[in-house]
Amino acid sequence: MIDLHTHTWRCGHARGTASDYVLAAAGQGISTIAITDHLPLPASVLTTDPAAAQYAMPESDLAAYVAEVIEARELAARAGGPEVLLGIEADLFPGNEGYVRDLLSRYPFDVVLGSVHFVDGWAFDDPDRRGEYASWDVRELWERYFGDLITAAVSGLADVIGHADLVKKFGYVPEGDLTDLYKGAADAFAHSGVAVEVNTAGLRKPCAELYPSMPFLKNLHAAGVPITIGSDAHCPAEVGFAYAEARAALTEVGYRSALVFHGRQAEEVPL
Ligand SMILES: [Zn+2]
Ligand SMILES: [Zn+2]
Repeated sequence: MIDLHTHTWRCGHARGTASDYVLAAAGQGISTIAITDHLPLPASVLTTDPAAAQYAMPESDLAAYVAEVIEARELAARAGGPEVLLGIEADLFPGNEGYVRDLLSRYPFDVVLGSVHFVDGWAFDDPDRRGEYASWDVRELWERYFGDLITAAVSGLADVIGHADLVKKFGYVPEGDLTDLYKGAADAFAHSGVAVEVNTAGLRKPCAELYPSMPFLKNLHAAGVPITIGSDAHCPAEVGFAYAEARAALTEVGYRSALVFHGRQAEEVPL
């Protein structure tokens, strides 16, 4: 059992230290946990959107975050606990690549999740910003989101694409066939060499299903895109959340293994 997506108190909207998460993972029988808090956002976002200060730790905290995860890893190793990976979840949107690349180069991350949480500067997954869906044609929004997702994968900055269909979070899903979007993204991911996570947080949200959906997951499998599993825990009690559902979905689609990462090198583990 693995969990490659967790957040700590550092980001300002989650609870628990890295060590609290490792203890929770030990209690769940998890063999590998990645701590993947939100990478700081650039000043360009923070000055135009004051709410963005609640989405990620300030840049001045990043070194302390890294030190906390490394300390938790050493404690776990001494106690025979789970393997702890130093991870981060980076916001990938057009124009942010240079900032992300610079921050990533400073620390020995094991795994980088690349996520799209913004379209045109709008944090579309923030419940307080939900009203802005009314100003979009849903199909157009999905096309924009999937376009940005492909750009994120092609950037080469991430090892894993986070919650690949997050745009469905509040249940705004276009009518009709979405195969073109799923297949286009799956082919781009395969070509870019990124993995995709099966993220169980969607089960806790209004969409009430895994990210990605089963039809999307089938396209990912057909394209040969490897996967990881993550709870996207924002408190220690959510570590390993709905792992059985994720595993069952993956098995149904035909996956037999998942990836973990050490020093950004992938390693296959059986499901
Ligand atoms: Zn978060
Ligand atoms: Zn995220």
